[in-house]
Amino acid sequence: MTEPVEVTSVHSPATPVVKTLQHLIGGTWTDAEAVRTEDLPNPATGQALARVPYAGATVVDAAVRSAAAAFAQWRDTPPVERARVLFRYRGLLETHFDELAESVTAENGKTLDEARGEVRRGIEVVEFACGAPTLLMGSVLEDVARGIDSEVVRVPLGVVAGVCPFNFPAMIPLWMAPIAVACGNTFVLKPSERTPMTAVRLADLLGHAGLPAGVLNLVHGAKEAVDALLSHREVRAVSFVGSAPVARYVYQTAASHGKRVQALAGAKNHLVIMPDADLERTVEAILSSAFGNAGQRCLAGSVVVAVGNIADPLVLALRAGAARLHLGAGSDPATAMGPLIRADHRAKVVDHIDRAVAAGATLVLDGRAVARQDGGYFLGPSIFDHVRPEMAIAQEEIFGPVLSVIRVRDLEEALRVVNASPFGNMACIFTASGRAAREFRTNVEAGMVGVNVGVAAPMAFFPFAGWKGSFYGDLHATGRDAVEFYTERRVVTSRWF
Ligand code: NAD
Repeated sequence: MTEPVEVTSVHSPATPVVKTLQHLIGGTWTDAEAVRTEDLPNPATGQALARVPYAGATVVDAAVRSAAAAFAQWRDTPPVERARVLFRYRGLLETHFDELAESVTAENGKTLDEARGEVRRGIEVVEFACGAPTLLMGSVLEDVARGIDSEVVRVPLGVVAGVCPFNFPAMIPLWMAPIAVACGNTFVLKPSERTPMTAVRLADLLGHAGLPAGVLNLVHGAKEAVDALLSHREVRAVSFVGSAPVARYVYQTAASHGKRVQALAGAKNHLVIMPDADLERTVEAILSSAFGNAGQRCLAGSVVVAVGNIADPLVLALRAGAARLHLGAGSDPATAMGPLIRADHRAKVVDHIDRAVAAGATLVLDGRAVARQDGGYFLGPSIFDHVRPEMAIAQEEIFGPVLSVIRVRDLEEALRVVNASPFGNMACIFTASGRAAREFRTNVEAGMVGVNVGVAAPMAFFPFAGWKGSFYGDLHATGRDAVEFYTERRVVTSRWF
């Protein structure tokens, strides 16, 4: 595999040197023709890190063809050998751990600690995929009739496409590609056009681990590239993670072209706080859930549902804790919260805040007041109290550092509020009562449930199990679900005379 163009961000005022990223097609990093090219800004400074070429149908077709051409040989590579490539990949990811985290921080804005966390979560998926020989085992029943045996074997699908969001530039590509290739598929990765640099490095390292040319391809771009993947006849399945409207569109469009789809979508996560919750630990967990990654997380706690008399002390403590969060560049170790991804996204979050104020919610901490002169897309944490469930701020995904507090009388009312949401990604309860926790986990309509945990993220060997409007499809990302998603079952019935 050829080396990718090294991306440098040399910013002398006189001669800014900004390289253009390349696509990976058939094992070669290439400057294929772009529909357009756009600057990739560092969200903490606004300065360009690189330029991103947007692929159109021709480039996508070349990438899919190269994946299709590599399929037969990769499918026939024994799973043990495929796993060895992944073991080597895991080693390289460890060696380049800090570099990958720095790349995530540079292009996404999150703090280095948060970036390290997501690289670690991604590596765990590679470790899971290293178990390919075991994961791919089938099952047998001898003598289904006299002298006749039946067996189920798992076979790869062919070319799989993966389309990623901006908020986890390392972890989400690693949710997809390692498991798909471990299962014997070939892959076309389309990283977010807003955070493509880390994906380039991840693809490069997989090549260095010994993945044959063409097994993993990478194209940059946005809607044009995605549309070309969704309709390409050689693409058998699509893994998508992103916002709800695009997830719906991807699900419908890919399915209408006969493809298998998993589309992980947006979220609005509720944290229910019972009167008997441990206040100090709960506040810490809420702050980290709501304001970690500047709220740009599909598992961000967005609505606190305060039950009974805990509301007053809770809001006071949340306000005090959030006001102390140091806002700054993710690369600064003193920073607790980094910038938002883009100026237009910041403007959307501010608009959510403006509308909630106009709708009568009580703004107890105003993040709009935070002004910085460094060109980054910073917004301080905001907290609304006395939010009513029907308000837009309580219903729509904001994807920014904004927390709403809804006050309710009891757990039953809390469950009604949570379950009225069209989303069902995550819901958490904080309580000292096993009985309340049990009632909550039994009756809440969410696929990922936390008990005294603010971010109930399943690890690599479990499915990332959003429900309702947070997921379109049947089989989720990671864990056994991913193995099922990336394979077909064949049933063989044999009789020997
Ligand atoms: P997005 O929907 O804007 O983009 C996701 C991907 O879709 C990108 O690769 C983008 O290029 C592509 N895309 C965008 N518009 C498109 C269109 N009209 N047609 C075809 N492709 C299109 O999402 P984002 O802003 O990058 O990511 C944030 C969203 O992702 C949030 O809503 C968040 O909740 C969600 N998310 C969900 C999960 C989950 O597990 N459910 C995980 C992470 C992020």
